[in-house]
Amino acid sequence: METAEIRRRFLDHFDRNGHTVVPSAPLISPDPSVLFVIAGMVPFIPYLTGQQAAPWPRATSVQKCIRTGDIEEVGKTTRHGTFFQMNGNFSFGDYFKEGAITYAWDLITRSQADGGYGFDPAKIWVTVYHDDDEAASLWRKIAELPEERIQRRGLKDNYWHTHQPGPGGPCSEIYIDRGPQYGPDGGPVVDEDRFLEIWNLVFMQEEITDVKSQEEFRVVGDLPSKNIDTGMGMERVAYLLQGVQNMYEIDQVFPVIKHASALSGRRYGADHTDDVRLRVVGDHIRSSLMLIGDGVTPSNEGRGYVLRRLLRRSVRAMRLLGVDTHALPELLPVSRDAMKAAYPELDSDFQRISRIAYAEEETFRKTLQTGTQIFDLAAAETKQSGQPALAGQTAFKLHDTYGFPIDLTLEMASEQGLSVDEPEFRRLMSEQRERAKADARAKKTGHADMSAYRELREPGPTPFTGYQELESDSRVR
Ligand code: ATP
Ligand code: MG
Ligand code: MG
Ligand code: MG
Repeated sequence: METAEIRRRFLDHFDRNGHTVVPSAPLISPDPSVLFVIAGMVPFIPYLTGQQAAPWPRATSVQKCIRTGDIEEVGKTTRHGTFFQMNGNFSFGDYFKEGAITYAWDLITRSQADGGYGFDPAKIWVTVYHDDDEAASLWRKIAELPEERIQRRGLKDNYWHTHQPGPGGPCSEIYIDRGPQYGPDGGPVVDEDRFLEIWNLVFMQEEITDVKSQEEFRVVGDLPSKNIDTGMGMERVAYLLQGVQNMYEIDQVFPVIKHASALSGRRYGADHTDDVRLRVVGDHIRSSLMLIGDGVTPSNEGRGYVLRRLLRRSVRAMRLLGVDTHALPELLPVSRDAMKAAYPELDSDFQRISRIAYAEEETFRKTLQTGTQIFDLAAAETKQSGQPALAGQTAFKLHDTYGFPIDLTLEMASEQGLSVDEPEFRRLMSEQRERAKADARAKKTGHADMSAYRELREPGPTPFTGYQELESDSRVR
């Protein structure tokens, strides 16, 4: 079943059940505490927290999402993309657990001939929050699941909140058993190859406060109006229904892998390391396309840095696959063609999108050329002297003078069996920041404010903001 069809069936199902179909919001988060929309619920936060009255009692959407926190997983697990689409249904004080479970079960188990996804009920497992007896008994009643396939989990896995005072509640996740060839029978449902989490149902039922961590907070009492927030990973469902092995092999992504494989002459499926690189390319090219489409441009900070990192990682993965010529003019149009049925604006806006992407590749090529020479020399010296780690000073110089992001240095070092003296690198970085601050203070007296011109500046060194992004990213869900 094509991804477009999975999408259509989802929206139809919830439309027929009284939900208003709401178009995807842009990837840029409306909530300043996170960079990107990381879940389908993000655009609905004001309604879910009760800050604003929801315009409809029920809504459904297919929301574009970016999770930079999952970047290291890409290509290595079967199920994590930096860009993905979360299909959701939402109830704002309307139906609650029974409705959410009924709608989800109906859609996933109804036959394909009858408009559903047609998953075999015998292969469906669920988790519930450990003392959510209500959800457990609904699963028994509605889905007739045996006890063994209703697994109980604690606060860490099955309780949702925003890490701030406000709504919270248990959740229930739906898994598909892919079969014994992917792992041992029975046992706990674990987030590995065999059991694939496809859908998370969040039951927002209480107000919490004194939030110290995921597992430490105080429940104030029941919410006056209880909400439902669900998220189904469209790519995960697509890979199961398309009979492929992972989310990078679906119709919206695989054409890029195929083309990258042809360009490099590396056959997909022949070598694990090459395969991971090809999947990284498939994922990152699509994410970059979607980000630029939504107005992000490469830069050294925040969202722009995420985009820069995705573009540069794609180019570098292609180089590691042996392709030294310009990669993006080959791959970006292929990704556009795979995505334009769902997002026609990518086609009409492609000139602008591609200009931005290709310019970034050009900048990076220059950076790489010089930086790689410096790196190779330093790595050889480090190894010769028997040291396990590249000096912090080298990483700093690569960063400061040659625009090498630290994660690139880390990656290249690890390919050589080396680590990097990161504490020293960070110390030098903060020293430099202090110098820059002092400079700025000195300049403030007597100079005109140049901040309006900042965007016109040449791309300079790239501060590593990855960790901040990872942290802020895990804030919601
Ligand atoms: P996982 O445990 O596999 O990392 P999650 O529990 O972090 O998933 P949720 O936050 O519950 O995911 O998001 C709801 C749904 O969105 C998941 O059930 C999954 O189907 C999908 N999803 C989450 N992260 C990704 C991703 N990086 N790529 C593709 N789909 C995803
Ligand atoms: Mg996750
Ligand atoms: Mg999970
Ligand atoms: Mg989940």
